[in-house]
Amino acid sequence: MYCKTCGKEVNDNAEICPHCGCRLKGVSVREEDAKSVGFGVLGFFFPLIGLILYLVWKDQYPLRAKSTGKGALIGVIVEVAIYIIVIAISVAVGTQVRR
Ligand SMILES: [Zn+2]
Repeated sequence: MYCKTCGKEVNDNAEICPHCGCRLKGVSVREEDAKSVGFGVLGFFFPLIGLILYLVWKDQYPLRAKSTGKGALIGVIVEVAIYIIVIAISVAVGTQVRR
């Protein structure tokens, strides 16, 4: 394989490039940061927690943070939509009762 930083050929099993000294296997970090449906669902049901997790993770785990943040955003939109529908229904019902 080839080093992503300097482009020179290196041993497939090498963890550090012998030419430029940069890390070739950032696997441990990459494995931890992945899109997460679970945290998206968590963000959906608990948008505030989702927002906090997003802010905490956005630098270290951008993909996971994005999933959580997206879930939280959808959760907020859905909750606001339900809130508006409930108000609209209660206003409509209230108007009918008064008549
Ligand atoms: Zn290199």
